[in-house]
Amino acid sequence: MKSVPLVAWLRFTSSDRRGSLWAVLVLLVAALLATLVWLAGRYEISQVQGALERDTTDAVSDIRTALTRNVQGLQALHAVNPTPGSWIVDAAALLHEHREWVRLEWRDAGLAVIAHVETPYRVPTFDRLGRSNATPDVSLACATARKFNGPAYAGSYFVPQSDGLGIEVMELCLPLVTAGRLSGYVVATYSLQDMLAELIGKQYTRSQEVSFTEPDGTRLALHGAVRRGSRVFTAQQLLDLPGNTLVLRMDGWRGAPDLFPNVLTALVTAMSIALVSVLVLLARDMRRRLKAEHDLADALAFRKAMEDSLVTGLRARDLEGRITYVNPAFCEMLGFAAEELLGRSAPMPYWPPEMADEYQQRQAIRLAGNAPPREGFESVFMRKDGSRFPVLIIEAPLINVLGKQTGWMSAFLDISEQRRVEELSRASQDRLQATARLATVGEMASLLSHELNQPLAAIASYATGSLNLLQAVDGAPDPAPAHTVADLRMAMGRIAEQAERAGKVIKSVHDFVRRREQAREALPPQALLDAIMPLVSLQARKLQVRVVTQVDEGLPDVQCDRTMVEQVLLNLARNAMQAMDLPGLRERVLLFRVRRAASAEGNRWLEFAVADVGPGIPDEVARQLFTPFYTTKTEGMGLGLSLCRTVVEQHGGYMDFLPNQPQGTVFRFTLPATAPRRAR
Ligand code: ADP
Repeated sequence: MKSVPLVAWLRFTSSDRRGSLWAVLVLLVAALLATLVWLAGRYEISQVQGALERDTTDAVSDIRTALTRNVQGLQALHAVNPTPGSWIVDAAALLHEHREWVRLEWRDAGLAVIAHVETPYRVPTFDRLGRSNATPDVSLACATARKFNGPAYAGSYFVPQSDGLGIEVMELCLPLVTAGRLSGYVVATYSLQDMLAELIGKQYTRSQEVSFTEPDGTRLALHGAVRRGSRVFTAQQLLDLPGNTLVLRMDGWRGAPDLFPNVLTALVTAMSIALVSVLVLLARDMRRRLKAEHDLADALAFRKAMEDSLVTGLRARDLEGRITYVNPAFCEMLGFAAEELLGRSAPMPYWPPEMADEYQQRQAIRLAGNAPPREGFESVFMRKDGSRFPVLIIEAPLINVLGKQTGWMSAFLDISEQRRVEELSRASQDRLQATARLATVGEMASLLSHELNQPLAAIASYATGSLNLLQAVDGAPDPAPAHTVADLRMAMGRIAEQAERAGKVIKSVHDFVRRREQAREALPPQALLDAIMPLVSLQARKLQVRVVTQVDEGLPDVQCDRTMVEQVLLNLARNAMQAMDLPGLRERVLLFRVRRAASAEGNRWLEFAVADVGPGIPDEVARQLFTPFYTTKTEGMGLGLSLCRTVVEQHGGYMDFLPNQPQGTVFRFTLPATAPRRAR
C-alpha cells in the first residue's frame, strides 16, 4: 500500500478540514439516532418478552393449582364408600364440571374397571381404538402412583378419533387407600388441549397461542389466538408432574417492528431530526456568510488596490465643503498626509494664498449647486513645500444609494509634465523657427553675395570710366574742363557708395558665417539624434509612425554646428513623416541611420541617412527639389531642403537622395568627423 505523502496531508486546506468535521458530526448524529432507535426497539422487545415469560409462569402455576384441585375432587368421590351406581352419578356430575377430563374410571386394585364415565362434551374418546390400547399407560401411571402413594401421571399419547382427527391425552392415576390398604384406583384421562382451554386464565389465550410441547419441541396440543403478525415471541416453562413432565409454551405475535416503537423514541428521533436540520441550516447559513465575507473582503481589497494604484488624485467633499475622503495619489501630489486634509474646509491648505479669494468664490458657486464644466477646468495648487503646479480638476456631484446628493467628488490630474512637454515643444518650435530664419538669412546671404557681383561690376566700370576721364585730362590744357571734374566726382561718389554697400553686405555675411563657425563643437552622433527625438516622437505619435535608429558602433564624434544639424535632421524627418501620412499606408517606419561615409576618406566623414517608406519622389519633383520656394504642399514654404543643403555644404559635406527599397526615399548627407579615435 502506498503511504499518503505528508505533503498531501499538509495541503489539506482549512475548508477541507471543515468539511470533514461536518461529515464526522453528521455521522455521529446519525449513529446516535440509529443507536437510540435500536435501543428503544430492544427495550420494547425485552418488555414484551418479559411479560410473556411472566404469563407463562402464571399459566403453569394456574395449571398446577387446577390439577391439585382436580385430584381433591376425585378423592371426594370416594370420601363416602360409593357403590358403582352412586359413583357413576357423582362422577358424571364431576365430568360435567370439568371439560378437561374425557373419561373417569374406578378400577380395583388389580386395575380391572369397576365403573367408568365418559365426558358428555365429546364422542367417547376410545371408541375407535378401544380402551385396552391405553392399558400400558394406565398401568404405568398407577405403578408410579403406588410408588409415590399419591396421584401420578403417565406420558401423553395420541388417540385417533372417529372423525379422522385425534386428541392428545394423559392418564392420571389416583390410588385409593382404605384402612391403610390399597383398595383400588381412580383413573382420569386428561385431554391436553382442553387442559389448555380450561385450566389457564382466559387473558393468556386471548392474544397468545399456548401449547404443550415435548422437550424436543414437538407440539402436542394447541390453544389460543390465531397468529396475527409475523414477529414471534416465545416463552417456555416446564410443568413438572409426578410421572410426567410437560413443557408449556406461549407464543406471542407482534406486527413488523415499528420504526418508532414508542413515544420516547419518537420524541428523541424528532428532536434529533430537528437538531440535524438546525445543523444543516446553520452550516448553510455559515457557508453563505463566509462567502459573503470573502466576497466583501475581495471587493474591499480590490477597491483599496484600485484607489492606491490610481495616479489620479481623488477627493470627496460634503455639502458644506469639508473634505471627507482623499486617496493616496491626491496626498502624494500635494505632499500632505491624509489626516492633515480630512475634515478641512475652505481655505484649503493647498490653495496658493494669492489665489485663495478666487478659489473661495469658485467653491461658493459650486456649493450653491452650479454644476462644473464636464470636461474639467484647470487650476493651480500649492504643494506643502510651497511649490505651485497646474492641475486639471474634474468635478461631479456625489450621489448616494438613495439617489440623494451628499457632496462633491473631484478627480485631479497633475498636468505639470504635460505643460513641460508643451513648453519644450514650443521652445523647440521657436528655436526651429529661429534657426530656419537664420538659415534663410544664410541662404539670402549667399543669394545677396551673388548679387554683389552687380555693385562690384558697377564699381569696376565706374573706376574704368574715371580712369579714362583722367587719361583725357592728362592730355588736355589746364585747367580741366569743369564738366570732367563734375563727372569724376560723380563717378567717385558712386564708387564709394557701391563699395560701402557691398562692404556692408559682405561684412554682415562674413559676421554671420564667422559666428556660425565659432559655434561648431564635437558631438557623438547619438547625441544629435537624442536631442531631436522628443520632437520627432511627438509628431510620430500623431501620425502613427514607428521611429527606428541605427547608429554603428565605435563611430567618432561629429564636428558640427549642433543647432543647424539638428535643424537638418528635423527638416528631413518632418518631410519623411509627412510623405508617409497617406490613408492607405499601414506600416509607417522612419529610420535614422548613422555610419561611416563610403568614401576613400571614410574615417573623416560620417554619413547620416533619414529613410521613409512613403511614395517616393517623382522625376519632375526631383529636378527642382533643392530649389528655394519649390513645394508641392499647400502650406509648404519650399525652403526646407535648400536650407538643409546649405547647412550641410557649410560644413563641407554634401547632400543627396535616392529611392528606398522597396519604396520610399532616403535622404543622406555627410558631416566631418573629429580626429579618428582608437577603437574601443
Ligand atoms: P516644404 O517646406 O514644402 O516641405 P521642402 O523643401 O522641405 O519644402 O520639400 C520640397 C518638396 O520635396 C516637398 O514639397 C515634397 O514634395 C518633396 N519631398 C521632400 N521630402 C520628401 C520625401 N521624403 N518624400 C517625398 N517627397 C518629398
